[in-house]
Amino acid sequence: MTEGSLYLHDPDDLASLFPDEPAYRSDQVREWLYRTPVLSTEDMTNLPGTLRHRFEDGLWPFEVIREQSGDGGRTKKWLFRTPDGADIETVLMGYPRRATVCISSQAGCALGCTFCATGQFGFERHLEPGEITAQIGYAKAYLRMVGMPNTPERLTNVVFMGMGEPLANYRRVREAIRRMTGEFAMSARSLTVSTVGMVPGIRRLAEEPWRVNLAVSLHAADDETRSRIVPINRRYPLADLTEAVRYHADTTRRRPSIEWTMMDGVNDTDEQARLLAEIAHRMVAHVNLIPLNPTPFTEERTSPRIEEFRHLLEGHGVNVTVRDTRGRDIDAACGQLRVVSATT
Ligand code: SAH
Ligand code: SF4
Repeated sequence: MTEGSLYLHDPDDLASLFPDEPAYRSDQVREWLYRTPVLSTEDMTNLPGTLRHRFEDGLWPFEVIREQSGDGGRTKKWLFRTPDGADIETVLMGYPRRATVCISSQAGCALGCTFCATGQFGFERHLEPGEITAQIGYAKAYLRMVGMPNTPERLTNVVFMGMGEPLANYRRVREAIRRMTGEFAMSARSLTVSTVGMVPGIRRLAEEPWRVNLAVSLHAADDETRSRIVPINRRYPLADLTEAVRYHADTTRRRPSIEWTMMDGVNDTDEQARLLAEIAHRMVAHVNLIPLNPTPFTEERTSPRIEEFRHLLEGHGVNVTVRDTRGRDIDAACGQLRVVSATT
């Protein structure tokens, strides 16, 4: 790979890569990268062989180190490695009417939530916009060219729920979202940014031209408990976070969701349900309950009373769903990313 990956180039500037080619060449390449992505430059059938060959190692900004399959072929987890050795994990989940890719925004994460595998391994580096969009390109190409059982060929949703805190990498994530709505022609309503609660980033996101969905990883409804398991809460406490999310909801007219990973004795009490309901009402948010997925160093255990907790919330008038545990068998479920790569 001499020239760097095609995805790392600004899509508006692809023409500079082949100055001797006719002008329509860059449009053709752009189509192959974003509209109808392919797994290899060999599949870019309308390009001359010399060009396909020249870019054969330069399509992806990473190597595919491992592909794992779960849930009867409807969950795929890829471990990608960049030339400088950063590991990126991406998970594709197929359903009868949609296909969702869960992408990473950083290699590792600096925020150290106690129950999260990514957090336990620390921060490696930010991902570039092209490294973020290439994960989407890869998932799109996979769906089109290989496919998943009983799943559409078209990628319908993107969630920033892989490794990293997207709002701690704001500028690059912003550019990636711009390319998702522009180059990939995805609607902002099919994109979800999940944040642990970076208040300034949430406010900035509310003012962007595209109205993406916001998911907030809350996990505890009082400051003392939350600061213990989500350390960034000490900087952005619940009152500020609640206001920022409400501002995002009011500005974008999108209903936020609250992510609540169920931990035994930590956040599954009647009192937490009552406090959570208050916050959910203030944020006008939907609540997603997530069974805690095991990670190597987590002390917390999953809650045995998820259904009860759901009923409590419903009793308080909260809109609530229990998240499925897609990908658990291949360590691709929420918070498990980095488990496998850490042992390779
Ligand atoms: N940094 C962002 C996005 C990545 S984490 C954030 O924290 O929101 C994606 C989701 O997985 C978050 O809601 C996170 O709290 C949750 N999660 C982390 N560890 C988990 C675990 N062990 N079991 C279940 N969910 C977990
Ligand atoms: Fe980082 Fe999110 Fe994991 Fe917390 S839950 S450590 S913010 S990736």
